[in-house]
Amino acid sequence: MPKSSNYTASAAQPSTNISASQRIPVVQIATPSAKIHVREQKGIFQRLRQYSNTVLIAVFFLLPFINYQGRQAILFDVTEQQFFLFHITLWPQDFTVLAWFFMAAAFALFFVTVYWGRVWCGFLCPQTAWTFIYMWVEAKVEGNHHHRAALDRAPWSLSKLRKRVTKHVLWMVFALLTGCGFISYFMPARELYIDIFSASNGFWTGTWVYFFAICTYLNAGWMREMMCLHCCPYSRFQAVMFDANTKTVSYDAARGESRGPRKRSQETELGDCVDCNLCVDVCPTGIDIRNGLQYECINCGACVDACNQTMEKFGYAANLIRFTSENALKGQSQASVFSIKALGYASALLIMIGLIIIDLSQLSDIQLNVIRDRQSLYREVGIDTVENTYQLKIRNKTQQAAVYKIIVLSDKAPTFRIVTDTLVQIKPGEQLDYPVTVSARRSERVGDTSQQTLQFSVSQVYSAVNPIPVKPANQVAQQSRFFWP
Ligand code: SF4
Ligand code: SF4
Repeated sequence: MPKSSNYTASAAQPSTNISASQRIPVVQIATPSAKIHVREQKGIFQRLRQYSNTVLIAVFFLLPFINYQGRQAILFDVTEQQFFLFHITLWPQDFTVLAWFFMAAAFALFFVTVYWGRVWCGFLCPQTAWTFIYMWVEAKVEGNHHHRAALDRAPWSLSKLRKRVTKHVLWMVFALLTGCGFISYFMPARELYIDIFSASNGFWTGTWVYFFAICTYLNAGWMREMMCLHCCPYSRFQAVMFDANTKTVSYDAARGESRGPRKRSQETELGDCVDCNLCVDVCPTGIDIRNGLQYECINCGACVDACNQTMEKFGYAANLIRFTSENALKGQSQASVFSIKALGYASALLIMIGLIIIDLSQLSDIQLNVIRDRQSLYREVGIDTVENTYQLKIRNKTQQAAVYKIIVLSDKAPTFRIVTDTLVQIKPGEQLDYPVTVSARRSERVGDTSQQTLQFSVSQVYSAVNPIPVKPANQVAQQSRFFWP
């Protein structure tokens, strides 16, 4: 019988005889205290995982160091309530774009899951990437899985203390770098690293960096697969997205059973599984994939590489464990490339992408809010002139100082005129509260209406001496009312 790793035995569940939704919830109870010493494995999927994780970690750390137009290209400036994304500046009222973006990312994940199961977990999930980095450090300091297990059992000695201290110090340094990396999306990156590593940081900066560093240390160093097994919601609801054509890491029970050990060149009636247990030894979540598909499986492909290594040694065909679907294991051809689920997720994804494009194309560099003076409805000046007062709140949403021209319009007579200066200059990112007085002649009024609609329009112009609009579309307008005596 195969070793059941650090879990209580689960009922054998050949994946060929169960439906996609039934394949997920195998009842297994993890024992958190039982540490998994994962055997190191080489192979095509492990190389692929190393490459994808390296790219992920490099992008995570390097993105905040990219500068654009003299400032950090990607920055969530929480204190100024602005989000810089290269030439785009998002303000809180523009955050629907971010909402669409996260929803699009979720639907993209669901769409991929329909075809490739939890391939995200094994190859691109930050939890997996950071855990593998920590396991790599552990292996470098304490040796392979046999050495690590022996070190665990060994009584405390100077050598054990040295290895443990070295490992934890390296883990902590990487955790601190990760904390800096995360917070550098919210604060200027270059100053942050210098401040933290020279211990000259402010209180809140330090608090957030150390908070995320501690989370990383506990998460990737200690919790590891427990996060995937007990905390990750995706592992729980992935079954909803699976169907019989979803490709996941699966054991070909029809070919592998009945399993049993044998000599390399020995003729045998047994199936191709030589019961070497390598697929269990290399599994980061400690499961036996031969028991059928389980929600603990993160589709990392380590067992595929391990089993292929064994198959090669015994001269058997590769891929006894492979990325395949339930239908393919049963020898059935795939019913349709596009299932209803995949089409549904693809449609939702396209809608979200469309909404992002529409929202981005409608982003304005100016924000305008017109507030009428509530103290007095109107003011009579001389015999024929009536004035109304407004407060215009104009925000320059760009990162450069800009000049704006204010005009007032009405589709009916009379002609409204702005008494105050119509050209204003506003610093980058700032809001100007600008009082505006509008006047009209009573003799030009049409009918005896007590109020009429007018519209304020603000557009960016080249300069105060050359007030031509920078871009015709770069203007905002808002309606208000003009009161007559
Ligand atoms: S069963 Fe295989 S693919 Fe799944 S987590 Fe374990 S090693 Fe990775
Ligand atoms: S690695 Fe392959 S041969 Fe070895 S126990 Fe697992 S399935 Fe069987």
